[in-house]
Amino acid sequence: MSHSLADLAEALATHISDIPEEEADLLRFYQALFALLAEQQAALTLDLDAHLADFSPKKWKRTGEPALRFEWLALTPETFHPWLERVAAHLRQRLPDVSSPAPAQSVQLAKRYYHENTTGEGSAMDALMLSALLPWLWEAARQMMLHLPLDEWLRGYCPICGGFPDFETIVSNKWRRLLCERCATEWRFPNGMCPFCGEDTPDMLGFYTTEDDVYRIDVCDSCGSYIKGADSRRFEGTLNPMLERLLTPGLDYSAVEQGYTRPEAFEEGEDA
Ligand SMILES: [Zn+2]
Ligand SMILES: [Zn+2]
Repeated sequence: MSHSLADLAEALATHISDIPEEEADLLRFYQALFALLAEQQAALTLDLDAHLADFSPKKWKRTGEPALRFEWLALTPETFHPWLERVAAHLRQRLPDVSSPAPAQSVQLAKRYYHENTTGEGSAMDALMLSALLPWLWEAARQMMLHLPLDEWLRGYCPICGGFPDFETIVSNKWRRLLCERCATEWRFPNGMCPFCGEDTPDMLGFYTTEDDVYRIDVCDSCGSYIKGADSRRFEGTLNPMLERLLTPGLDYSAVEQGYTRPEAFEEGEDA
């Protein structure tokens, strides 16, 4: 599966053309957002080759430190702030509270978001930073993923950017693939362990499936978090997790209704 926001925007457009008008509202919003983000990904001049030449997979695996450094994104207030304003204008269609920060703060807040998974300025600012950084994070991941033995990572957070997974693809009785909510890298992780807190006592873990057994929600009673996903063995056709996570807000509602949440900020010391 190719790793470009343009392909995702196109997959969304195709999907929208196949569903009833009244179900398309949220997806049309996403489609326009991803088309905007795709434009930015295509315009980036990010080149990580020099950094990758010095990269040590051994150290990466041993320390558990995600591979991508924030500084490699080379954001500057001059270019990043006008971009934030464009993304904010789009997000306000659905999230009226979104506003962009002062120009001088924009890169600082992006950096804080990258390292802590929160800007510390509320959920609207966090939503803005997540969307605004996607072109850089997807592009960095696209360049880096071929150089890293991703399936040897086996941690619950992203091997490239350190982000939390927000979708899982069950591939066998033993394994699933987790999808990073930030850079959309996929990596292998065992079933039967919570990716967020490491809990592996069967009594503390559970899962719910849709009637057809295709979609599911895995929950952890130790940390109270959930992750939604799909079982690739029961899925008809090719499963595109980047698309599926946008098509399944109902799974999130139902997990939240049962009292589970998505993890937000990183635990201290998990990522530096
Ligand atoms: Zn990531
Ligand atoms: Zn947990």
